[in-house]
Order: sequence, then structure tokens, then C-alpha cells
Amino acid sequence: MNRTDIFVQFDNVEAFFSLKPDRSLDLIPSLSRNLKAGEYLIKPHMVHGKHVQVIDRAFLEGEHIDAVGYPELADIPGYIEVPETDGLVTDIPGVALVTTHGDCIPVFACNPVKNVVGVAHAGWKGTLLGIAAQLVRTMKTRYGCSAEDISAYIGAGIDKCCFEVREDVRNKFLADAPWTEKYISVKDDEHYLIDLKGINEAYLKSEGIEIIEIDPDCTCCLENKYWSYRRCGDKDRMLAYIKLV
Ligand SMILES: [Zn+2]
Repeated sequence: MNRTDIFVQFDNVEAFFSLKPDRSLDLIPSLSRNLKAGEYLIKPHMVHGKHVQVIDRAFLEGEHIDAVGYPELADIPGYIEVPETDGLVTDIPGVALVTTHGDCIPVFACNPVKNVVGVAHAGWKGTLLGIAAQLVRTMKTRYGCSAEDISAYIGAGIDKCCFEVREDVRNKFLADAPWTEKYISVKDDEHYLIDLKGINEAYLKSEGIEIIEIDPDCTCCLENKYWSYRRCGDKDRMLAYIKLV
């Protein structure tokens, strides 16, 4: 487990990004089976979009989709899957929010004043769509969080050393968000390198967030520490986890 140091100062926040050899495939069932009465683990079906789901009492007590990601957990009342969502926010203690990552950037956010936490999954599509900003906006609009009270952590993910794309992806960034040009460098005649962590940071800053810590680790470079889809097609994933206790 890789505890996110930035949140350690907040006694009531538990957050980590898992490391090899742990796999989300094992962690999600074991965490779910250890839930106590009234505790939850929320697992979205991620679609590289920008929807952020608010996990409030109405959501917890409402109807839920069938657990197709982990059908063996269907009988655990606290285990809930959420359709078509890449970000989660809650202010309820005991509700663990998780996303899984095989190079995609995890963005964590915490507001200790309002006791609100959130996490988002930002691959290149979600990064470009601004899911990091959407995460923060949801905390502001739904819970009245002030930007200055929000601490954010951009966790380990594929970095600008390894996130290589061709012209099609680069052009999409330039067309949809021309300001991202400074986060894109030319590698050779056909390839470009994109700084996804930098773009997520810029989106957080655009929402007024000043306390941002960025994990320098590249999941693609650090073979002994992280699974990586880009490096070798790993099907195993890291788990991003945040919970109010
Ligand atoms: Zn790298």
C-alpha cells in the first residue's frame, strides 16, 4: 500500500494507491468482505468519461445495478457498483470510494473542513475532458466546499516519459483544449509525449485548488512497483482508495 502522505494530516481520512504485488482484483473482494455493518465500498464501471457520482444517503439506499464486475460480491450489502462513472464523491464516513488504474492517473481530493472526499480515474480521455475539474466542481456545488480548503493528490500514473501518442490523439488535445499544447512535446516524426499529470494539475488549478501534491512515479517506468497496461499489457490494476473514517 502506498499511503497518500498529503492526507495523513487529516485524522479521519484513509487513502492509498496500491502497489505490486497487490491487485485490485484481490483487494476489492477482500476489502468488501471485511466491511462492517453500515460500511460500503463503491466501485464504478469506468468509461473514460467525466461523470462524477455523488454518494449520499439517497444513493446508498436507492436501487443499484447488478454486481457484474464482481458477481461473487453481489450478496455483500455494502458492495455497490455504479454505472458509467469515473469519479466519486462522498461526505459519509465508512464509505470507501475506489477506482482501478493500469496507467491512468488517479486524482484524489479531500476537504477536511466539510469532511468531503473524492477520487477520479483520469486516462487521457478523462484528463482531456477535465474530470479533475469536475471532481472539484462537484465538491463545491454539492457540498459547498471552498477551493482553498481542498487538498488534491495526483497519484502515480503514466508520465510524460512514456505516454506516447500519434498525431490523432495529439490533434484531439489541441482541438478540444488548445492550452494543453505546452504539455505536449515532440518525440520524433510520428510520436508525441503528453504530460497527463500536468494537464490534470492545470484543471485543478483552474478551479482554484492550490494545495496539490503530484506523485513523481511513472507506472510504465517502474516495473517492480506498478502494473502497467502500456508497458506490457498487464491486465492487473492498482487500486485507488479513499474513505472517511
Ligand atoms: Zn515513464
